[in-house]
Amino acid sequence: MVSEKSFSGGDRIEIDGGALKVPDNPIIPFIEGDGIGVDIWAASKRVFDAAVERAYGGKRKIQWFEIFAGEKANEKFGEYLPAATFDAIRKYRVAIKGPLTTPVGGGFRSLNVTLRRELDLYACVRPVRHFNGVPSPVKHPEKLDVVIFRENTEDVYAGIEWEAHSSDAAKVMKFLSDSFGVKIAPDSGIGIKPISASGTKRLVRRAIEHALAHKAPSVTIVHKGNILKYTEGAFRDWSYELAAEEFGDVTIAENNIVDAGDAEGKVVIKDRIADAMFQQILIRPDEYSVLAMPNLNGDYFSDAAAAQVGGLGMAPGANIGDEAALFEATHGTAPKYAGQDKVNPCSLILSGSMMLDHMGWSEAGELIIDGIEEAIRQKTVTYDLARQMSGAKLLKCSEFATAIIDGMPTA
Ligand code: NAP
Repeated sequence: MVSEKSFSGGDRIEIDGGALKVPDNPIIPFIEGDGIGVDIWAASKRVFDAAVERAYGGKRKIQWFEIFAGEKANEKFGEYLPAATFDAIRKYRVAIKGPLTTPVGGGFRSLNVTLRRELDLYACVRPVRHFNGVPSPVKHPEKLDVVIFRENTEDVYAGIEWEAHSSDAAKVMKFLSDSFGVKIAPDSGIGIKPISASGTKRLVRRAIEHALAHKAPSVTIVHKGNILKYTEGAFRDWSYELAAEEFGDVTIAENNIVDAGDAEGKVVIKDRIADAMFQQILIRPDEYSVLAMPNLNGDYFSDAAAAQVGGLGMAPGANIGDEAALFEATHGTAPKYAGQDKVNPCSLILSGSMMLDHMGWSEAGELIIDGIEEAIRQKTVTYDLARQMSGAKLLKCSEFATAIIDGMPTA
């Protein structure tokens, strides 16, 4: 692990009463990532530094601190996820990463899932919006502009499962039969779907706080509570309960709106059944803003929504907990393009824009968005976008970063 003594001038981000305290020269750990990580990290770092420099005129500067995970960590230290990597993310509170290969065989768990679990990063946050000029399969992609808060630790993803025909599955079936008279086909695999009040409330609290901070009109709870009453139905009920208990003066439940003026200046809390919601984002996307949902719904919904605005190549993501936040590209390592300076760095760059916003450096985050919009408007883009746009100028990954920097407004 690189020693902190190898750089100077940076300070730690602290958490005080649940809020981040960000110094002007924060130390931010980064994981370059495997495969195309080497290309997109180099490009992204230049964009982040340029945005911060342009927004704050040298008053603020990020002190980057490399930490290791994935293949680079294995080469250097003989392990894919060194304990020091977890320690650094906990210590410095905010970190960013490129994609990581999940080693095949040997019973490896996904490195990404392990990072989220170990650091209890319970909220997976995915903003989904359209950039004018990016090809999309729908007529009005610009109408979709949402931020999805997906619960990251519970639900069928908790990993509580038993294989069909195993003795453990037989034990679980016997228990269910003896205790509750529940009969299950004997050749079944079994999984458990835990959803807790505490897990739900901490996620929805973040979603409502985000809506308030960004003056979003609504938070929609997306669930399958009509069928799964005690898990997804409870998720809905606990969400309304949390909103009333902790944000009663600044939110209003949709069902309590009698006159049009009732919702004025308040965040409307509403809920939709998950299957209907997949139609709603296609048919009436502009009625939705911040969305909160359990793990499995969020997994499907995030990718479906991203496809609607032109695909995962442009989709940023963050995994946020009470102790730390990890921002990341949502695509994989695309090994066939590694080291070719070819791919689109926007997923990581947009994740960095989210990171700056999370740190309260939203001026710099917005400059990045402006720069991307301008580069796309000029049709100066990487191969993935160029192949779908007529008249586009094909750029390398590093050149796209330069076009984004050049596209940032100066004043
Ligand atoms: P992938 O790496 O996302 O690549 C699939 C395809 O998506 C690429 O061939 C390319 O399509 C396109 N693509 C991905 N990133 C792009 C970029 N930045 N710019 C332009 N196009 C991009 O998915 P995969 O091949 O299934 O997975 C490879 C490895 O990544 C696996 O080891 C997997 O475990 C890992 N992975 C990691 C993460 C993560 O770290 N968060 C997420 C997913 C997968 P075209 O060839 O059509 O241009």
